Amino acid sequence: QSQELSQAQIDYHAALQTLVEDGTRMVCTGRMHTDRICRFESLCYSTEAEEFVYFHSNSSVMLPNLGSRRFQPALLDLSSVEDHNTQYFNFVELPAAALKFMPKPVFVPDVALIANRFNPDNLMHVFHDDLLPIYYTMQQFSDLDLEARLFFMEGWSEGVHFDLYKLLSNKQPLLREQLKTLGKLLCFTKSYVGLSKITTWYQYGFVQPQGPKANILVSGNEIRQFTKFMMQKLNVSLEEGSSEEYIIVFSRTINRLILNEAELILALAQEFQMKTITVSLEEHSFSDIVRLISNASMLVSMHGAQLVMSLFLPRGATVVELFPYAINPEHYTPYKTLATLPGMDLQYITWQNTNREDTVTYPDRPWDQGGIAHLDKAEQERIIKSTEVPRHLCCRNPEWLFRAYQDTKVNIPSLIHVIRQTVKSKPGSKKHKWSGSLYPGKVRDAKCQASVQGTTEAKLAVSWQIPWNLKYLKVREVKYEVWIQEQGENTYMPYILSHQNHTFSENIKPFTIYLVWIRCIFNKSLLGPFADVLLCST
Ligand code: UDP
Repeated sequence: QSQELSQAQIDYHAALQTLVEDGTRMVCTGRMHTDRICRFESLCYSTEAEEFVYFHSNSSVMLPNLGSRRFQPALLDLSSVEDHNTQYFNFVELPAAALKFMPKPVFVPDVALIANRFNPDNLMHVFHDDLLPIYYTMQQFSDLDLEARLFFMEGWSEGVHFDLYKLLSNKQPLLREQLKTLGKLLCFTKSYVGLSKITTWYQYGFVQPQGPKANILVSGNEIRQFTKFMMQKLNVSLEEGSSEEYIIVFSRTINRLILNEAELILALAQEFQMKTITVSLEEHSFSDIVRLISNASMLVSMHGAQLVMSLFLPRGATVVELFPYAINPEHYTPYKTLATLPGMDLQYITWQNTNREDTVTYPDRPWDQGGIAHLDKAEQERIIKSTEVPRHLCCRNPEWLFRAYQDTKVNIPSLIHVIRQTVKSKPGSKKHKWSGSLYPGKVRDAKCQASVQGTTEAKLAVSWQIPWNLKYLKVREVKYEVWIQEQGENTYMPYILSHQNHTFSENIKPFTIYLVWIRCIFNKSLLGPFADVLLCST
């Protein structure tokens, strides 16, 4: 990977002339700072001021042109974490003529993706906030290909997972600190600023207690396209059809320990008649972990960032997340949300330690490892007595940290019992193949015919044709939903029908106008769109 910016590719005088004459050009997508990504030509960065610089000239463009709303609160989020006030992007403006008095610009020839990593030391954050968003931001803009260069502006050093970031492009990613060594004024020939949030599924609780995002837009398919890419880059091949089935216990070795891990492994192996192995981030290479997980039938782990590795599990596998004492699994669901994304096709099970005797607390550790000695006595006592951490905001709630960093002796019978409630036979049946979840199109050629019988009775005969895409599909069950609404009324009568015509006579009045809504449903849950409403007069 090339460490240096190659100036050879650049005709310096031509580049400088373009910058002075054309200035900076920016066109963005997104209506709000939280969904905006901007494409720039000739965006500059002053490593002395640590500010991005926009140069105005006769040809410069700035869309959206927000005026001072650009500071309310910012032009865009640099990380994929929404509206976090430490992650904002903006630039300062100068006339291009000011370049005469400034340090000579150094041009960045590569197409750049400029963003912030959110928390590069935590694996959940690495995948959820950075790797998936970077990967799909690059998919969104075709010139962000493998020759693009990533620029991380959050100010952290490489961090323990930097090798993973390096997989996303062929060029060495550059960190904010390294930019100083390149020059005083860097000018990005072509750059994109900001990250797509389209793949994120979790909010960490900065403004309301943590939980799944309100409007999740990603499915297992996109997750698996990403993991396929990562596995290719890691040189891990998918061993399809490899015979031996096994269970993985993903252990933590520093804190939040499983105290009876050996006993747990033996019990799992015995109960499910499967080889059971342990892995940990401390003792295995990342590629080895991915290789093992991508063929596992079940992944058992304490709640914690290492569980994001369920991204790599095969369809049909089971995730078992263990929670320490007093931590309600319902309140901490990043891994549950991941495992249950549509199309992930994973089984998800939680177990919580409810026995006080089986937990080991560490009140005397530093506060960030869950110590509570710094709190006043009454508060310490309240925490120790409490049987459940109340919902809270991120990230320094001492009661949460105290409970999160307990070690646990797992009660084996109770764990096996909860797993057995979901996993009846052998876990991870690899037969579980993609069943398809394609939606029906609109029904076609809908018609109605009314007939009046006397002054109080009437009938409506409604018919329609199958959706156009159905003739190309194998669908287990096709049904139609018909709503009959009297014009001007708010309510309607719903029907679920198996055939393409039906004569309605219940509650149908003569000399009345009815609105008839029809849609197709595949396999009970795949609801298609309603066809154009049908107006029927009796
Ligand atoms: N970690 C680990 N083993 C340990 C403790 C932590 O591998 O014994 C990893 C963990 O998976 C995460 C990082 O270290 O990637 C930070 O852990 P922390 O406990 O701060 O975060 P959490 O796992 O609670 O999200």
